[in-house]
Amino acid sequence: MDSRELFERSKEIIPGGVNSPVRAFKSVGGEPFFTSRASGSRLFSCDGAEYIDFVCSWGPALFGHDHPAIRKALLEAVSKGTSFGTPCPAEFEMASLIHEMIPCAQMVRMTNSGTEATMSCVRLARGFTGRDRIIKFAGCYHGHVDSLLVKAGSGALTFGNPDSAGIPADLARLTTVLPFNDFQALEECFDKFGEQIAGVIVEPYPANVGLIPPEQGFLTRLRQLCSKFGALLIFDEVITGFRVAAGGAQKRESVMPDLCALGKIIGGGLPVGAFCGRRDIMEYIAPVGPVYQAGTLSGNPLAMAAGTAALGLILENSPYAELERKSRRVADAVSAAAKHKGIAMQIPMAASLFSFFFNENPVKNLDSAMKSSSALYKKFFHGCLSRGVYIAPSPFEICFMSAAHSDKDLDAACEAFSESIMAL
Ligand SMILES: *Cc1c(COP(=O)(O)O)cnc(C)c1O
Repeated sequence: MDSRELFERSKEIIPGGVNSPVRAFKSVGGEPFFTSRASGSRLFSCDGAEYIDFVCSWGPALFGHDHPAIRKALLEAVSKGTSFGTPCPAEFEMASLIHEMIPCAQMVRMTNSGTEATMSCVRLARGFTGRDRIIKFAGCYHGHVDSLLVKAGSGALTFGNPDSAGIPADLARLTTVLPFNDFQALEECFDKFGEQIAGVIVEPYPANVGLIPPEQGFLTRLRQLCSKFGALLIFDEVITGFRVAAGGAQKRESVMPDLCALGKIIGGGLPVGAFCGRRDIMEYIAPVGPVYQAGTLSGNPLAMAAGTAALGLILENSPYAELERKSRRVADAVSAAAKHKGIAMQIPMAASLFSFFFNENPVKNLDSAMKSSSALYKKFFHGCLSRGVYIAPSPFEICFMSAAHSDKDLDAACEAFSESIMAL
């Protein structure tokens, strides 16, 4: 079956034909291609097309698809059994690596997705502080957790319903949403609610409305206010964790959260999440403490093997300087083309992350991101796709560079980018 037929038939038995909404191409129009195989920097579609992939499975493919070291680790693990339901050595190995690499990770608990990780951080923050209120930032996405699916960026924005149906108003009331990079709103919120705040959750580099770098001092001020009022600072590093530096944004920005959610990259392409943080807080989790959290497949030996192999590759040979150089190359090429064409663009980047805003001004928060032209992005997306380059299928998602993208790939990609800009 080709992509068209697969999509038609899938739509009859899978809502929207997809298992995660943004894959449906709703915000860029047209129909998604189905992938039959992926290798290195490439996706191969069921229609015989080949794409240079800048979505990288939405982050996990830091070393490209089907990396030989990860494949080898997985095959070895498979030969020993796929799930035990008892503790296994691979879990200890994985936790040790996270403990070693992520500054705040005094203790670690594995989950099966990023959503479970952020959900557990929120419950833990409430259980530890005995308070109910959670603060989040507009445009930050933390998975589809009830308390956090309020003004939540990409997926929700794409479909024009920033607040999902099915979330009780009584629960949403306990979540206060602030604009990112707004010092004044932050101070006012702490003045008003300081003693009620269980935790503040933030993507230290919001990456679900396009990429938004934090302004100088914003994360530091957040840290100070949390400490002053006894609220926990929760970094959602599900994307940034091993994408902007080995120690995540907390290392790059030298700001230490109390808790941190991880996912995507740490599974090496298998379904994984984790949360970690201060020992005294983490010891509030069952079976040592009163906050319940569990998972039948948590710490699954295949996921641990793939994740451990991916983190091992990072430790062996830090890829971040190279990734930064390659992202910069793309940003420069697209900027030059946009300038030539007389189109205003902003292309924020951080190591392996970058995004394209068709916007006159630098993007600081959700409101300024929303002023970007979706119509231009849509045309740009299809221009790239028709030239064999796959970028995020939404103006509010980011692009991912991998270590597998060669300079030759980038020559071809930059040509496709420039031609697609010139054709706008
Ligand atoms: C993807 C993502 C999540 C959710 O992770 P899932 O594995 O999709 O549940 C949480 N936070 C951020 C910042 C993400 O990008």
